[in-house]
Amino acid sequence: MRALVVEDEPLLRESLDDHLFQQGFTTDLAIDKREAEELLISQEYDLLLLDLSLPDGDGLDLLNTLKATDANTATIILSARGELEDRILGLERGSDDYLPKPFSMLELTARIHAVLRRRFKIQDNYVKIGELTIYLDTNTILYKDNNLEFTDTEYRILRYLALNKNKTVTRITLSEHIWGDKVDDRFSLDFVNSHIKNIRRKFSSRNFTDPIKTVYGIGYRMEDV
Ligand code: CA
Repeated sequence: MRALVVEDEPLLRESLDDHLFQQGFTTDLAIDKREAEELLISQEYDLLLLDLSLPDGDGLDLLNTLKATDANTATIILSARGELEDRILGLERGSDDYLPKPFSMLELTARIHAVLRRRFKIQDNYVKIGELTIYLDTNTILYKDNNLEFTDTEYRILRYLALNKNKTVTRITLSEHIWGDKVDDRFSLDFVNSHIKNIRRKFSSRNFTDPIKTVYGIGYRMEDV
């Protein structure tokens, strides 16, 4: 999953970056409105963490940018501006949640999972596809009752496909959501292929059904059968 953090305070920005990394996100960072705007227009994010008091203006304006790009991005405002009026404005402009500063990372994690559950329309902290259960917050994947060992990257790929179940995910979208846009496209497509191969090997070595369907020339999908 891919996140954008818009925060001008360097220490908080870094700790959010670390925290999201631990949660299996690939994260872009923006320090002001201008940077954030460029990224929101050119990239697609699952999650936006948004500070309101930015050096070049009000972060609330970015919610309009986001709306214009038609993205289905879960948004949490992080702000020291705790006034009721600001909260209401943020929610009215389409933010999913509002967390006043200072906050604990534990609380942020809970809020992130809640907004993502809403975005992906799931009830619990796991997605079930056939015999496969993919937990969203603990890097755990079960096949029936067997715990499967996957690398971080493999887990991220399976989680992203599972969250988008019954939809074809293109290889480019997948690589952008796993690695961001920092990787050269041709490289990252090779990465995707080889990780998918390794995932499949792990299923087949234990005689489990391969949950990933290849959509030839396009990408991959997981189907809830
Ligand atoms: Ca600020």
